[in-house]
Amino acid sequence: MKQYTVALVAIAVMLHGRSSTSLLAQSNDPACQDRTLVSTGGQFPRNPQTLAVRWTGFSNFELAYKGQVILLDAYFDRGSIFPSLGFKAADIKRANVILIGHGHHDHMSDAASVAIRTGAVVVGAALTAEKLLAQKVDPKQVRSVTGTGTGHEELKFQYFTVQPILGRHGAPPPDIVAPFNQALQRTTPRPTPEQSAEQLTIRARGISDPRVVSEGTIAYLITLDDGFRIMYRDSGGPVTEYEKAAMAKVERVDIAIGAIPASVLPALTSQQALEYIRTYKPDVYMPAHHDGSINELWRATEPIFQTLKDENPKIVTISKGYREPTCFDTTKRSLIR
Ligand SMILES: [Zn+2]
Repeated sequence: MKQYTVALVAIAVMLHGRSSTSLLAQSNDPACQDRTLVSTGGQFPRNPQTLAVRWTGFSNFELAYKGQVILLDAYFDRGSIFPSLGFKAADIKRANVILIGHGHHDHMSDAASVAIRTGAVVVGAALTAEKLLAQKVDPKQVRSVTGTGTGHEELKFQYFTVQPILGRHGAPPPDIVAPFNQALQRTTPRPTPEQSAEQLTIRARGISDPRVVSEGTIAYLITLDDGFRIMYRDSGGPVTEYEKAAMAKVERVDIAIGAIPASVLPALTSQQALEYIRTYKPDVYMPAHHDGSINELWRATEPIFQTLKDENPKIVTISKGYREPTCFDTTKRSLIR
């Protein structure tokens, strides 16, 4: 019955002609099924034109393409109040580039240790770069960017380029967030003293400078060598003029990875996601920053997906479990626009 349903869906897609689903690689390649990160010893896709994307909690993603591993954010050892990601920061043995969206601990706490072990280049705003240097990352590996260079800061790597773009950190309304947090504190397990101490240690590996909001949050436009584009945005703040200017040049991206704000109510989180898809015009939207600890809510993805599909019925929304791969055929880009 299930196979029958799948076949019907396939026929429906064909009848509608060109569809964004053609972007997804139809592959029995183990690298597109295995939950082992490439950075912890998993395989690269066999086909060099296949991009494998894995979510690993909060705004962490791994992109594997043509023998290169790109890590988006680095917050893996989150402590025992979080669900396990199935690996530790120390398991990461391979990474070429680490892009840090901003320097709060839940985005960069493992960036320094992973960079030191792998030799990866780490990119971030000045505030982030300062913290990396204070954690003894070799200055030769650190790239400090402003995101205001309107393309002049573009970083060139083997098989891809990265354009840093100044974004803005989310600022969820306190009159909504505070009552929810109070209710959660009353009704969920309190961290033990050991767990609280553990959290303090993790927090110390990030920054809490108020300037993060306006000058420390960087969106990254990643362009693969065949023109396939990914926009990465690790905090759910509003779109900036810099992002609009960058998008005016490239018009659209293939994948937008966008953080869900902490504003709790789907009416608000959906509006932010809508602004992202109207700006980035992706074929595929992948949410970020939506899981939580034992005393937090996960941020709902389905209401957002529905709002995006009401606006653009062709958009493909993808949200999987930790480490589950999604493979993209990067050559299909031209067929879907
Ligand atoms: Zn933050």
